[in-house]
Amino acid sequence: MHPPQGSACPPITADDATIEQSLRDANIPALLNALAHLTGDLELIRGVKLDTSFLADAQGGVPEAEQGRIRKLALDALRRYRDAGSPTPKPLSSDTTHELLKFIAGGEVPANYVEFLESELAINEEDAFAPPSLSNVPTSAKEKFRVAVIGAGMSGLLAAIRLQEAGLPFVILEKNADVGGTWFENTYPGCRVDSANHTYSYSFEPNDWPQHFSQRKVLHGYFAACARKYGLRNHIRFRAEVTLSEWDDKRALWRIHVKTADGKTETVEANAIVSAVGQLNRPQFPDIPGQDRFKGPSFHSARWQHEHPIAGKKIIVIGTGASAFQFVPEIAKVAGDVTVFQRTPPWIVPNPDYHADIPAGKHWLLKYVPYYASWFRFSVFWKSAEGLLSFVKVDPKWHNQPYSVSEQNEVLRTMLIENIKAIIGDKPELIDKSIPSYPPGGKRMLIDNGNWLQTLRRDNVHLVNDPIKEITETGVLCASGKRYDADILIYGTGFTASRFLTPQKFLGRGAKDLHQTWNGDARAYMGITIPGFPNLFCLYGPNTNIVVNGSIIFFSECEVRYIIGCLKLLLEKNQAAMDCRKDVHDAYNRKIDEGNLQMAWGSPHVRSWYKNAAGRVTQNWPFTLLEFWDQTKAPSAADYTFTRKEATA
Ligand code: NAP
Repeated sequence: MHPPQGSACPPITADDATIEQSLRDANIPALLNALAHLTGDLELIRGVKLDTSFLADAQGGVPEAEQGRIRKLALDALRRYRDAGSPTPKPLSSDTTHELLKFIAGGEVPANYVEFLESELAINEEDAFAPPSLSNVPTSAKEKFRVAVIGAGMSGLLAAIRLQEAGLPFVILEKNADVGGTWFENTYPGCRVDSANHTYSYSFEPNDWPQHFSQRKVLHGYFAACARKYGLRNHIRFRAEVTLSEWDDKRALWRIHVKTADGKTETVEANAIVSAVGQLNRPQFPDIPGQDRFKGPSFHSARWQHEHPIAGKKIIVIGTGASAFQFVPEIAKVAGDVTVFQRTPPWIVPNPDYHADIPAGKHWLLKYVPYYASWFRFSVFWKSAEGLLSFVKVDPKWHNQPYSVSEQNEVLRTMLIENIKAIIGDKPELIDKSIPSYPPGGKRMLIDNGNWLQTLRRDNVHLVNDPIKEITETGVLCASGKRYDADILIYGTGFTASRFLTPQKFLGRGAKDLHQTWNGDARAYMGITIPGFPNLFCLYGPNTNIVVNGSIIFFSECEVRYIIGCLKLLLEKNQAAMDCRKDVHDAYNRKIDEGNLQMAWGSPHVRSWYKNAAGRVTQNWPFTLLEFWDQTKAPSAADYTFTRKEATA
């Protein structure tokens, strides 16, 4: 599963024809940097200017003829490299790395970015998000410190891998019968990752992905393989659902109540909890009366009932979010009739590679050309990193609110509308329904290769904007009085995302209830720690979600590094508990709120699951990835109050 990086690439033994053929599938920006890296010849990149803006193509706007010239140079260089016995490339100097970074980023890279990018790129074969070493902590102290990780999805497995590296004992409590979290639970047709796969993977476990956006089974296989490789399965208690965690101040530990497969409740004790329960796994059913009246099968997209065949059936789908966007095109291929109820249309970002396989040549390059995989990951990362942020930042003086939030946002809006019209331009009624009346970036934009809009053109698919008044025995009744009947009703209505950490209960210091404390308005410091709840660390907690930049794995890697840093502080200082200072937490959250109000998703004209009932954005990180990376590099002891073991005994 791991294509080798740099010096670990297998030697090239392929003939010239294979190399030449493979180069036809090359990503030119990644190839150029890999060549310059391999040969040390920076002249290779000096005459080329890349366009890496969000609107540019994947080849950085390099003209076809120029691409041909680059491929020829690459063929010569790779032949020489092969004929010389594939020698290990020399490490890069900082200056060279900086020049290569600037080149592939398509312009100046601010100095404070370089360290961050070098790390993300792992170009010098460092472990990009390596947590700090706990080698100063006596082994006996580490052995006595026990961590409970709740959840064996992407972030829980990551936490476990890093805890293991740090030498800290841990147990993983997982409610499901297998690892993988969202990739285990979501089995709906068409389910695939909608972040580019080469960045939606652990930085230290690059994978030879079959597709640019792989399907759910592949994702599940990847996380299961990681769990096996790191020997995590022995640490996981499956079908063990945490219901209540109580902080015992005297003993400075959490008492965790776990419902086991046989219905019994057990108690697990741990010095610290890492909550890795995700945000998007508790189905949200709409606020529409009559849901229990429907006589046929009805289910939520995340609880797909495969025993009910779709073929030939009349289907009603409620919702047009990321999940429906993936399953509607699949079921439309076999269903008799699909009526999709849309409350708000999504913005669609065109990407021709959305369903495409990684071509054979690219697999070859990823495997054999030193550092090609790293530079390819970087070029994918860069385009999805900060590039889009400026397009979704609010200009308070902008005149076209609520349709767009700035001039740049209007440019994006125009481009996205053109894409819609290119596919359904001959269907004016569909166009009207498909153009959102809120700014791009107000909600997560959905990647598409035309599949969704083509599906809406089908004779057996009907897009309905009429609000649903109630669900009946046979289908739905709309506000207009019109009725629609169906054999099967599918809810693509999302998740109760803003109810973080529910339905678990947490009782912190003084038996303070976490959910009463939050009162529907979840907040945390860095999204990780919460005053009054010592030694509780959240992954994918409040305000760590993203709308347009980065991948959740990036955030989890930053958070896990920070958490291991916290445990190091605790153990090196010979302390038993650390509790986030309320003033620090509050100031941080004020900054987050101000930031979110300046982004399209904070706009008062947008309704989304990013906001809680009071309208506050509880989900999103409003700043750059660099800022999150920077703030979570290492914890500051000054942000916490510590309690000694003696004082708690
Ligand atoms: P979602 O984005 O919250 O979409 C829910 C849909 O249901 C929206 O279209 C919503 O309309 C609609 N809805 C809710 N109540 C309704 C009602 N009463 N009447 C009509 N429509 C109603 O949920 P999701 O599609 O499951 O996606 C949630 C998140 O999960 C995504 O944003 C993404 O982060 C993640 N996800 C990722 C992937 C992936 O990577 N492959 C796939 C799926 C999901 P409104 O917009 O008007 O509220």
